Formats: sequence, structure tokens, C-alpha cells
Amino acid sequence: MPPDQPPAELLTTDIAVLCAGAAGLMAAIAAGRTTQQHPPSAHPPPTVLAIDGAKKLGAKILVAGGGRCNVTHHEVTEHAYAGTSRNSIRNVLRRFGVADTLRFFNDLGVEFKQEDTGKLFPTTDKARTVLDALLTAARDARVTLRHPDRAESVAHNPDAPHPFTITTTTATIHARTLILATGGKALPRSGSDGLGYTFAKALGHSITPHIHPALVPLVVDDASPLRALSGLTLPVQIELRAGSNKRLESFTNSTLLTHFGLSGPAVMDISRYYLDARTTDPGAHLVANFLPGCSRESLDRELQNLANRKPALWLTDRLPARLADTLCTHAGLDFHTTGATLTKQQRRALLDAVCEHRLPVTRSRGFTHAETTAGGVPLTEISIKTMESRTAPGLYLCGEILDTDGRIGGFNFQWAWATGHIAGTAAAQSLFNTKS
Ligand SMILES: Cc1cc2nc3c(=O)[nH]c(=O)nc-3n(C[C@H](O)[C@H](O)[C@H](O)COP(=O)(O)OP(=O)(O)OC[C@H]3O[C@@H](n4cnc5c(N)ncnc54)[C@H](O)[C@@H]3O)c2cc1C
Repeated sequence: MPPDQPPAELLTTDIAVLCAGAAGLMAAIAAGRTTQQHPPSAHPPPTVLAIDGAKKLGAKILVAGGGRCNVTHHEVTEHAYAGTSRNSIRNVLRRFGVADTLRFFNDLGVEFKQEDTGKLFPTTDKARTVLDALLTAARDARVTLRHPDRAESVAHNPDAPHPFTITTTTATIHARTLILATGGKALPRSGSDGLGYTFAKALGHSITPHIHPALVPLVVDDASPLRALSGLTLPVQIELRAGSNKRLESFTNSTLLTHFGLSGPAVMDISRYYLDARTTDPGAHLVANFLPGCSRESLDRELQNLANRKPALWLTDRLPARLADTLCTHAGLDFHTTGATLTKQQRRALLDAVCEHRLPVTRSRGFTHAETTAGGVPLTEISIKTMESRTAPGLYLCGEILDTDGRIGGFNFQWAWATGHIAGTAAAQSLFNTKS
């Protein structure tokens, strides 16, 4: 330590929660509440200390859902997630489901409204309502929030009375149990920059071979005419195909064309599958159907009956004019082509452009623009009943650090609430059975 720096503070706690994002706050509240139910004894109730590097807590909660915070979804099943094992994900979601999340927040005075998509938002339309409720609940559960204080390393000595040591920028903290909730790598400026994976490894865990941005916009080739369509939003079916052209995944939803390429729910949802497929199959690609409700056969029949109408105008009845023009040009048609002069090859080329448009994606916009992370600590290394580590007893993991990521729609927060609640409750209960 440089000579002009004050000596590090030495602290001990029963439960350390690293850190205080969505999963960490929920874990700390659940742990704090559980410790308050500790049977009266000679010992004071166990202490809960949550440490976070952020100056202002809850950055991601505040930006979520465009500042409205999409807290959960009215129907959450394992099918909305990808990760190590759907079975494990289902078992977690059964232990703390949507009804539990709503009850938890309702008890804190947060009411919800449901949108047509099934997304649930606070009736105030303000993410601040959600964060304030969590911070009040943490205070009421006697959680000590220590921030800004960034953790630099963690160590585990199973034989010590306080087996976990966290070294932060200003303190050395010894804890009897540790809840690791450092998040993944999405939105690194919020403080979640992936250092948590180093901590998990130091505590004996593995990390999946690939860590990708998920729920991330995609960049298309500089020369793609799609870039010139910036600002258009329309429903599109986007399909992931293997190099062999085998269909792997598909999402149909609103898609936004932007100055860099593609965004919107369908693109965000398929992005993690695309990035994952590309690690093993360089030929994996995305194909767009700009008229998802229409069959190729019926469109072909219509094209055959166009007579003197122009295909470009016919397409304009169904799609924004700028896109219709781009697709006709892509198919090699000029503006003067009419139904009468349209050849079979031109029809096929136009239908390919409209219904099977290969998207010239070059990369994702990276973690800076991602909403979550694909990959992390495999669930096989966690006991799902408690979220306790199978490698380091007394260690619990929750939230985005785990190898589970959900679709757009509130599924990622539901994962954070569920795993956080299970981990916090179990970590506190574990202390009831051990002597301090
Ligand atoms: C722009 C955006 C919008 C989103 N909108 C939604 C939405 O509407 N609905 C939804 O369900 N999901 C949404 N998500 C995803 C959701 O925010 C995450 O799934 C969720 O926040 C994960 O919670 P977590 O606690 O595991 O991680 P995080 O929320 O990332 O929290 C991790 C915490 O750890 C701290 N930290 C990390 N490393 C250290 C360290 N070394 N020392 C000290 N502190 C550290 C960070 O400061 C942070 O507070 C959105 C994400 C983004 C980026």
C-alpha cells in the first residue's frame, strides 16, 4: 500500500453480499429478514453487509425498461431462458415465481400494471419506485449498504471462523457466508465489468467457455442498403440458420432499422443465439421475413396476377415504401418492371428478398449496448434449492453471474429476484444451524 494511503479498515460480518444490484439487493433483503426471525439467544442477530462499487446504487434498475423498469412478466417459464439447463431454471422459477415477486413488491407499496405483451411495470411508470422500495426494504431488514467500495479480490479459507475474505479498495472484510451477485458484463459503466467471474473462479467455480453479449443490437455491413432505412419499425420474423441452412431459432416481433443495423425485440432476442452459433459454425446466419403473416405461395400467386401493376407498388401496399424499393432493388428489379414482364426468376428473387432476406450482420454492438450476458457460472455447480455453491460451502450465487439469460420482457429481473431471494434466505438459514 502506498505510504500516503490510510490503512485498510478491518470488518467482520456474518453475511456479505457482493454486490447490491437487483439480485444482490433482493438477496440482502431476504437474508436480513430471515436473520430478524433468528430465535432470541445470547447472540445478537447475524449481520448482513452488502458492498457495491457504485456511487449511486441501482443504475440498471433505473435505466431498465426505458426508465419504467419492466419488473417481471405475467407468465414466466423456463422456455423464456437459455443457459446450462432448462430443468434447473424451471426449478428455480418454481421456488420463487411471478406471484412471489408481485407479493414482495406489493407489500412494499409497489403496484403493477400489465401491458398487452404481458410485461409488468410499476403503475407509476417510474423505475425509481422499484429502487426506492428495495432500498427501504434493505434498511428495514437492517442491511448495511457499503458503497462506493469496489471489491478487488476474494479468498476462501474453509477452516477459518470467517472463511471468506473480501478485499475492497478501502477494507478487508471477513464473512461467515458470502453471496456473490456481481452481475455479468452487460453495461460495464454500471460497474458490472466481469470481475465477478474472476471471483467465482478464485472460489473454485468454472465459467462457460463463451461469454457473449445478449439482448444486444446487431451491426450490418457498412455497404448494406438497410442502413439507409434508419428509423423504420415493423414486425419481422428473424430466423437463425446454421451454415447448412438448417433452421435453429426464430423470433417474430417488432424490428427497428437503425443507422448501424438492427435493433428491437426480435433482433435483441435472437442475438445471443446468433453469437453463440457463430462460435462453432462460421456459416450461421440470420434470415428476415419482412411479411411474417403471409405465405410465400400466396404472395407468389399474387405476383403472377399483377398484370400491368408494378411489383414495387404492389409491395408498397404491404411494406413501408422505402423498404419496398430497397427490396426490389436487392432482387434486381427496376422501377419499370410490371407484372406482365416479371419473369419466374425475378419473382423468385423478389420473394427471396422479402421472405428470406439474408441479413448481412457483421457483429454485435457489444457489452456496452447489451442488456444481459449469455454464459457464466454453470447451474450444475449450484445446489438449486439454496443457490449454494457445490464447490465452496457457505458461498451462494445469484443473478446474471450465473449461466442463464432471458428474453426481453422482464424475465431477467425475474431471474435476479428469484435467485436472490432463494440465496439470501438460505444463506441466513444456514447460520441458524452453526455456532458463531
Ligand atoms: C439498459 C438495460 C435495460 C434493462 N431492462 C430490463 C428490463 O426492463 N427488465 C428486465 O427483466 N431486465 C432488464 N435488464 C437486465 C437486468 O438489468 C439484469 O438482468 C439485472 O440487473 C441483473 O441483476 P444482477 O444483480 O445480477 O446484476 P447487476 O444489476 O449488473 O448488478 C451487479 C452489481 O454489482 C456491482 N459490482 C460488480 N462488480 C463489482 C466489484 N468488483 N466491486 C463492487 N461492486 C461491483 C455493480 O456496481 C452492480 O451494482 C436491463 C439491462 C440493461 C443494461
